[in-house]
Amino acid sequence: MSLQKKDGKIQIRLGINFKLHLLASGILLLVWAIYPLRNGSHLGTANPFFLFTLFTTWGSLAVKAYVYHCHLDLIPKFFWLFDFLDVAVISCIYHLGYFPVNFLLILYFFLIFLSIRQFAPRETIYLTLLSLLGFGFNTVLLWPNLQTTGQPVAPVFAGFSVLMAVTSLGLSGIFTNLYAKSDLNLAKHFQQMLDEKEAVLREASLTHANLEEKYAFSYTLTLIQQSLLEEMDEANLLSRITDIIQGVVGSYSCAIFSIENDQSLKLSAFSGKELPAEISEIVKKEHSLVAKTIKTQTIQNEEAATAEERIFWAQQGINSLLAIPLSTKNNNLGVLLTTGAQSFSFNGDQQEQLMIITNQVSLALENSRLHKKTSLMAWHDSLTGLYNRNYLNIFLSVVENNTEKDLGCILFDLDLFKVVNDTYGHSTGDIVLKEFGAILAKHTSTRQIAVRYGGEEFMILGLNANTEDLFHLAQIIRRETAALNFSSNGEHFSITVSCGIAVGSGGFNEVFVQADTALYEAKRTGRNKAIIFDPNYKG
Ligand code: GH3
Ligand code: MG
Ligand code: MG
Repeated sequence: MSLQKKDGKIQIRLGINFKLHLLASGILLLVWAIYPLRNGSHLGTANPFFLFTLFTTWGSLAVKAYVYHCHLDLIPKFFWLFDFLDVAVISCIYHLGYFPVNFLLILYFFLIFLSIRQFAPRETIYLTLLSLLGFGFNTVLLWPNLQTTGQPVAPVFAGFSVLMAVTSLGLSGIFTNLYAKSDLNLAKHFQQMLDEKEAVLREASLTHANLEEKYAFSYTLTLIQQSLLEEMDEANLLSRITDIIQGVVGSYSCAIFSIENDQSLKLSAFSGKELPAEISEIVKKEHSLVAKTIKTQTIQNEEAATAEERIFWAQQGINSLLAIPLSTKNNNLGVLLTTGAQSFSFNGDQQEQLMIITNQVSLALENSRLHKKTSLMAWHDSLTGLYNRNYLNIFLSVVENNTEKDLGCILFDLDLFKVVNDTYGHSTGDIVLKEFGAILAKHTSTRQIAVRYGGEEFMILGLNANTEDLFHLAQIIRRETAALNFSSNGEHFSITVSCGIAVGSGGFNEVFVQADTALYEAKRTGRNKAIIFDPNYKG
């Protein structure tokens, strides 16, 4: 059993032992001091053994004081020395044979072993034996002492004394043992309490770590949500997503396969290690991991992959796969595929996190598609796909500040279109409008815009225009329009278009009015014509 400096219990016991020793030594000193007052002579000369006892007592006390104050670390090693010093002191005092001293002795004797050290049950046997040994020594030493006092020692008295001493020592051993046992139980109890406390603390710290991790994830999620909401362009959005996910789960690579309008799968974004070109073909196969994920709309890992797929991925150094469906209540948008080099790279927590992220991503993706659709609707004519008046206004607000450049405008108005509607029906009329729109779109350069600004009225508008080029363009469109063939209920027909052209730097309104005047002139002079504005025309 080791003794530590900071063990408070042992410190107290050592303190008690020391004080008892000090008390015994003090009383001896007092006896030595007052003896001459009563007897006239010095105790030292009357009884040299008293001096020896005094010296032994104070000497032992000095040794103890030195060790306790300067070398506490020696105590575990030199317990036997303290036991020995105690026994020696007790023996000497006992040998003096003074009755009052013996009362003190009994007190000291019993307490000394209780206080000297932290008992373990087996140590009490050793202490009892040591005490018996001390008692034996004393009996031997006291025997001649009693003889010299001249008092006859009755064998019965001597036997009784020995019996009492042995009994009391035995009892002290038993009590000490009991005490030590209860002490040990108490120590065990404290240890158990300590262990329990430690377990609770450990659990608390684990919970804390867990919470910290959850907090970090929810913070990441907030960042993801923020960036997802900010990004409306689908391509940018998807590549941001793959970047974020790769960062969150630390995967080898991360890819998104989106379901296009024609239900085909397209590799829309990826992060991390570049995927081989064959991947697009592999995922399209009927039983591929990605196809299964779309079909079942559940998260799938490498176990759902076909043998062929697994071999393919293993050749890329990839041994774990995780495919998560990207879908909302109304739409299947695609699949997110993460890959890892090691087998079973993605644990339950990560899968759960990815599910949460992909839910957000799906919503963002749907949002971005919806946004694209609505912006298309806001700026485009739904029948022909050309720009509408809304876009024309935006275009003009940008262009009109650019006054030094010439603005060119061709206005188109289908000839006798009302007749087409009346003869072949409105839906046939729509087909005609669509086809004409396609011709316009085909011939519009990147520096121009084609706008459907009225029912069957269209416009091509562009900067840096010159009249000849626009005239040439209008003629091409006019001819191609006239060359179109339509049929309805077995009847074939064709249409023509009239065009008015104007170029100028006086702003859109001026150019538009001029082009409209030219168009009116084309209609007036027989239709199916392209006419350049002339100031002589009357609007
Ligand atoms: P012109 O211009 O040669 O003088 O004769 P027009 O018959 O084309 O004359 P008008 O401009 O009066 O007729 C335009 C017709 O276009 C009237 C309208 O029913 C038709 N129209 C306008 N928008 C649409 C549309 O979206 N679909 C169809 N099918 N017809 C439309
Ligand atoms: Mg018209
Ligand atoms: Mg018309």
